[in-house]
Amino acid sequence: MEMAKKPFLYPFIYLKSMIRKAYKYRIYPNTEQKIFFAKCFGCVRFFYNKSLSDMNDIFKERQEFKNITPASYKEDYPFLKEVDSLALSNAQLNRNAAFKAFFRHQNSFPKYKSKRNDQSYTTNNQKGSVKFSSNNRYISIPKCKRIRIKKHRDFIGIIKSVTISKTCDEKYYISLLTETDIKALIPVDKAIGLDLGIKDLIIDSNGKKYKNHKYLTKSQNKLAKEQRKLSHMLVGSSNRNKQRIKIARIYRKINNQRNDYLHKLSKHIINENQVICVEDLKVNKMTKDNDYNKSMMDASMSRLLTMLAYKASWYGRTIVKVPPHYASSQLCSSCGYKNSITKNLSIRKWTCPKCGSIHDRDINAANNILSKGIEILTKDGTHPDSLFMLGSLESSSKKPPLL
Ligand SMILES: [Zn+2]
Repeated sequence: MEMAKKPFLYPFIYLKSMIRKAYKYRIYPNTEQKIFFAKCFGCVRFFYNKSLSDMNDIFKERQEFKNITPASYKEDYPFLKEVDSLALSNAQLNRNAAFKAFFRHQNSFPKYKSKRNDQSYTTNNQKGSVKFSSNNRYISIPKCKRIRIKKHRDFIGIIKSVTISKTCDEKYYISLLTETDIKALIPVDKAIGLDLGIKDLIIDSNGKKYKNHKYLTKSQNKLAKEQRKLSHMLVGSSNRNKQRIKIARIYRKINNQRNDYLHKLSKHIINENQVICVEDLKVNKMTKDNDYNKSMMDASMSRLLTMLAYKASWYGRTIVKVPPHYASSQLCSSCGYKNSITKNLSIRKWTCPKCGSIHDRDINAANNILSKGIEILTKDGTHPDSLFMLGSLESSSKKPPLL
């Protein structure tokens, strides 16, 4: 016998969930603090790489996962005792997670940490060992007191751990991982379908198009120019090193701008809609492409989907993934007629031979994703909170975005 379905009214405005958020600030360590950080980075890297390689040997020899602890190296490598022991324990946890993912065939063998990349270590807040000075201009962390910080924004929640990092252009940052309760947003009766593209990052079922980042193409030409310069420089020369730093800075700028944009965009979509239907893109496969521009776009798409997913879970919204094989661009969103001519990607606008509707290719696809998503949701019935909203669904808002 089938189980009776739960009533749709679901008290989800009271739903709370514990979430973790990270806040990043620039710090300005003094010479002594820089030396301490350098030791921590070095020891964490040493422990990580050495234990990884030893574990790999043990695995090859006896097919056994041996969890090597920092303590087991301290006698042979006494310099490990000088640094924050929590940093080493965190490196151990990270290594185990990477190793286990490898065992489960989810990932390739963990990468060794390189001196040349950005450096970092993570330590924990234990009984208030991480704290700001009363004027908020300094932060103290285990084994390192009063580091000058630029606290450009407040954070919410309790600090669980902090990560100190140094970029290859010698800038230092601290990232605070906090834990906090978050309340779901008040439900809204709107649903939206999103089609992800290259020229426009998102085309939504209301006909709104969100451009892919223009700054990317601007920075890209600059990047190409600087990379050409780099290729002509002598390996190991100080000019080459300077150039490498310059390029890293351009990359970081692009990355920051992109993240900022994606955060605003995902928050806007989550705020406005109860149900968000997206195509379940296999973006990871796409990024294998060597074209830098294209892989950046793919990375944006996959990052946006990740942000939408976790923000939806924080705020009590529902994401419905529509299977990628679903022919969203070939169906007429008004009458359902399948027009296979539109397989040709160059056709941007078409008229349905059956009902005469005129379609913009991408908006039509977004509308199809929306109806398919709702169909899945209704059939599935596992989202009582969202289903409750569907009775009064109307076409989504025409308000301008908050961007
Ligand atoms: Zn039609």
